Formats: sequence, C-alpha cells, structure tokens
Amino acid sequence: MPDYLSEAKALFEYTQSMRRDFHAHPELGFQEVRTAGIVARELSALGLEVRSGVGGTGVVALLEGVKPGPVVLVRADMDALPIHEETGASYASQNPGVMHACGHDGHTAVLLTVAKILNSHRSELAGTVKFMFQPAEEGMGGAEKMIAAGVLENPSVDTALALHVWNEKPVGWIGIGNGPVMAGAEIFKIKVLGKGGHGAAPHLGVDPVLAAAQIVSALQGIVARNVAPLQTAVVSVCTIHGGETFNVIPPAVLMTGTIRTFEAGVRNLVLERFEKIVHSIAEGMGCQVEIDLQLLTPATINQSDSAIRVQAIARRLFPEGELDTANYITMGSEDFSYVLEKIPGCFFFIGSANSNKGLDAGHHHPRFDFDEAALPHGAALMAATIADLLKK
Ligand SMILES: [Zn+2]
Ligand SMILES: [Zn+2]
Repeated sequence: MPDYLSEAKALFEYTQSMRRDFHAHPELGFQEVRTAGIVARELSALGLEVRSGVGGTGVVALLEGVKPGPVVLVRADMDALPIHEETGASYASQNPGVMHACGHDGHTAVLLTVAKILNSHRSELAGTVKFMFQPAEEGMGGAEKMIAAGVLENPSVDTALALHVWNEKPVGWIGIGNGPVMAGAEIFKIKVLGKGGHGAAPHLGVDPVLAAAQIVSALQGIVARNVAPLQTAVVSVCTIHGGETFNVIPPAVLMTGTIRTFEAGVRNLVLERFEKIVHSIAEGMGCQVEIDLQLLTPATINQSDSAIRVQAIARRLFPEGELDTANYITMGSEDFSYVLEKIPGCFFFIGSANSNKGLDAGHHHPRFDFDEAALPHGAALMAATIADLLKK
C-alpha cells in the first residue's frame, strides 16, 4: 500500500489553506455558492468530470480508475451555522452571524485533498470514485435533496463513506464503529389547548399549564420505565411557552423538543408511548392536544463489512494511534444516514481537539475550532480506504 499518510501530510499546506479560506467565508445551508464554486474549480483543475447545482448547491465529480470496477461514493458537507464566531482566529468568519462551527470547512478541504491524492494513483484503481459535496447538512435536508437529484445513480454506488472531525476526542484518536454510530432524531411539537380564565377562578376554566407540567414529567418515564435498561433513547422537552401575565390562565401551552433513538424497535416503542402519554394526560385533565411529530434524520448505521475494512486500514496507517473500534456512538444526528439507509458504508470520526492549544470547544460553540493536524489523518484514511476498495 502506498504511504497515504505521508502523501496527505505533504499536501497539508493545500488542505489548510482551503480549510481556512472556507472558514473565513462561511455560507449557510443551500447558500454555499462561493464554496461550491471553489470545489468545482479545484476538481475541474484535476481533470475530473464535474456537475454543479445537484440538489441545490451540491457538486458531484467522478474520478475513473484505469479499469472498470465498483463505485465508491465519498461525501463532504459544505454548510456553516447561524452562529457569531468568537474564536479570534486570524482566519475567523468574515460573515457576521455565520460560522463554520461544526468542522464542515475541514470536511470539504479533506475531500479536495483526497481527490488530489487519488488522482495521482488513478493508474492503480479499478473502479470509480464519486465525490459528493453536499449542501445543508445541519437539519435542512441537503443529503435527501442530492439523493432525490440522483446522486446515488449513474453510475450506481456500491459503497459510501464519510467522516466527521470530532472535538469530543483529542487529535490522534480515531473512532470507527460497527453498527449504529449516530442517533436517529425526531422533532416534536405539542400544543395543549385548555380554556383560559382568571387566575383566581381556576374552576371556571381548564388549565393547560398544569396539564403541560404533568406531560413534561410523565414523558421522562418513557426512558426510565419503558425502554429496556441496556437500550438507549432520549426524550427532551426543550421549549415551553404559555401565558402572558401572572393572573390569567392561558388558553394554550406550546412545547417543542426532540427524541433520539438508534434502533427501530426502540424508536417505535418510544413514539407509541409518547403519543399515548401526551393524549391521555391532556384529555384526562380536560384539555385537547395537537401533536406534530417529524423525522429529522434516521439513525446513522455502519455496515459491518465496510466498518471492518476501514478499521483494518486505520490500524495499518496509524499503528500508534488511539483507535476506538469498540462501540463509539453519539446521540447527535447526521444526514449521511439517508445515504447509509440505501447504500452499505461507513461514517467515522477523526479526533480533532487539542486542549494545550485551546482548541477544544464543542461542536456548534461560538469558540469552536479544531487542531488542523487532524486533517491529514482524515484525508489519508479516506484515500487509503477508497484505494483499497478499488484495488486492481
Ligand atoms: Zn453540526
Ligand atoms: Zn457536522
């Protein structure tokens, strides 16, 4: 196997300059026009066949090996978040209120580096690499839009790969789980409708505040009493709004929150109990209730063969690295799950925090930044895995 780690490290200046340029010019979901333009320019310069405007601002490029073979899709997300950056970095955001606070600038730079590396190994590849630069990962449905636009077909994809820089772990750590790695997420809205009235005459109305309070408490019983102790779920009520003043019982209370699960059986159980509890308590207390439940993303589930292969490559590339193959999972969610629902593949994590340099704020924090030494780790592991999947 060629020394992909050395090759990725040799391209560090390129990767870093790309990452810092994207970081300084962040764009929100479906507005990644500048970013997508640079991506298309860089891929075209390599001589790849490039298509822009796929599912909004997405870019797709094909790299053909010298012989036919399987098709490996590799994805990076390009979008930033509506957060005002407070890192004080020399390459900090020049767009007030918009920030690359999740590391997607790094993912885009890594994938451009992977394209460069694999392009120089074209003669050793049997098959096709399909590069998917997607818009709007942060809860706006970018992956779904690109799938609807046909990114998984023509040519149809056999294996799909993606990575995330990960500030919950130090640089040098690599997490490659086998099975579920990120949670499925639902968003819920609950509207409890009572009958408003004077705060001093509750018996003449129907109090939705009391019903809402009971619902919040009872929902916590789902994880505590219904989900089996060794299985995982989260039910969080995150907003609650009702009433305007101290002596008026309001007519309605609105609550929103999220449910996170990994397995279909647990998800069905939680959703069924959720609806039953909300309806029964509201109605038992004389209120009416409206529930709006929406799937945000399914769980991200790695296919065993793909995960084992990435693990094996990582062991070869980083013999001294801290490799976490046990069962690294997080309750965050990720829309690459929509790709992995259709195509077997692997989503893995590249440790990127460095507390000595103060680069350890969490994802989505206004001071989020990561150690760029993580970028060659990601590029090397991705390039080596693809080359292995497509070896002649
Ligand atoms: Zn994020
Ligand atoms: Zn992210």
